[in-house]
Amino acid sequence: MKPYYSLDTYCKETFGEKLYKIALDAGFTCPNRDGSLDTRGCIFCSQGGSGDFASALSSPNEIRQALLDGRNRLSGKKTGSRYIAYFQAYTNTYGPISYLEAIYTAALREDFIVGISIATRPDCLPDAVLSLLAALKSKFPDKFIWVELGLQTIHEKTASFIRRGYPLSCFHEAVSALHKLEIPVIVHLILGLPGESLEDMLASVKHLNALPVWGIKLQLLHILEHTDLADFYKNSLNETSSGITCSFAKKEDYIQALIACIGYLRPDIVIHRVTGDAPRNLLLAPTWSSNKRDVLNTLHHTMKELAAYQGMYYEN
Ligand code: SF4
Repeated sequence: MKPYYSLDTYCKETFGEKLYKIALDAGFTCPNRDGSLDTRGCIFCSQGGSGDFASALSSPNEIRQALLDGRNRLSGKKTGSRYIAYFQAYTNTYGPISYLEAIYTAALREDFIVGISIATRPDCLPDAVLSLLAALKSKFPDKFIWVELGLQTIHEKTASFIRRGYPLSCFHEAVSALHKLEIPVIVHLILGLPGESLEDMLASVKHLNALPVWGIKLQLLHILEHTDLADFYKNSLNETSSGITCSFAKKEDYIQALIACIGYLRPDIVIHRVTGDAPRNLLLAPTWSSNKRDVLNTLHHTMKELAAYQGMYYEN
């Protein structure tokens, strides 16, 4: 047993087996890239729109093949019989309603898909999208629909620096609207954003504790080549006097920060991620993070040594 409520534990309890996600790139863009808000994207976002390992498709007819391709890619793992279709790359509610309906429906219809998880931005959930999600929920009562929101931080100063492009109030409204529809919300937080202290990261965690949030992804900040963050990072290495830290140079420091965040996290929030995957050919720093197995082993070993567990510092 892991000392936190992992997605694996949730899936085994709920579905009797571990569920793997098949990541999809359904051909979306993002208001932070197409010029609606900005053309440069968030400063950390790769050209793949944070979906560098996703199976690409360009029409709803290709969903089945993309899911089968994704399933084949997981064949080396000890998978069960069912999977989650994960609409991952870019902003997966940012398109015509007819297209959204077609791709979500095509995925939900597949026998080996137990549910879909949709990664998006809180400012891309207009009423029409919410109505569609509610209708699909009724149409496929045996399957689930999760929505993943890329919050990254509650701090407006950092949000502005990373060019997130929406205020915290927008996130609150989205969480509230999804909660009313009984659609579970998974929130992405990034640990190690430029200028954020451990107290800042813990403040984000504590803030989420007070909201109807079902799941969380705690993501180490990866500095990828060909991003504005990479330029910032390289400059900050040359200007040591700036004093702004960016991500975690040492694995041990990340593990300590992660354990603190898990310790303050509400015990019922399902933890979907505690580190993250970065394309090796793009990863500039921290390079220690490319050994994901080692990061997870160190986390679990250290938590055991410290007798640490999710919610150990949580106060209702
Ligand atoms: S909102 Fe997501 S897809 Fe859009 S630029 Fe930011 S990280 Fe990339």
